[in-house]
Amino acid sequence: MTKEKFDLRQKAIIVSADVEVDGMVKDFPFIVDTGSPETLICEKAIRAMGCTHVDSIEDVPIQTVGGGAMAYRYIIERMSALGVTKRNLKIISHPMPSGSGAYGLLGLDFFEGAVLAINFNTAEISVYYTKMCHHCRTINPEYAKFCMECATKLVVSR
Ligand SMILES: [Zn+2]
Repeated sequence: MTKEKFDLRQKAIIVSADVEVDGMVKDFPFIVDTGSPETLICEKAIRAMGCTHVDSIEDVPIQTVGGGAMAYRYIIERMSALGVTKRNLKIISHPMPSGSGAYGLLGLDFFEGAVLAINFNTAEISVYYTKMCHHCRTINPEYAKFCMECATKLVVSR
């Protein structure tokens, strides 16, 4: 389990995310946003990684708080935050509101299959995985290949 401190004085939960494109790694502050279905990187950060619109794989319509908009979707080699690593992550790029203090949003797709725990008393955020047996619903450790309760082979989700 990875546990990180966040700053309660900020208006959002901001964590550091490593982005890797063409072997170059940079870290950017990202907002943990369970209101966003997809992970988003701002255009400034994607340009800093050496990407332009011609590197995008498609144009996608997105819904923002301000209404509908068009965004570009990219595939980035790796993104890591809070101990979670995603490879060949599809990510949309759109400007972030000025003054947000972040270069992107970690959306629901980033936390798929994980347990996300936010403690507002201690200002700590943690992410961990559980492997539930589809047969007996026992939660197994991440490294388990077979259910410790019923010995059913555990399905690896990724
Ligand atoms: Zn089981």
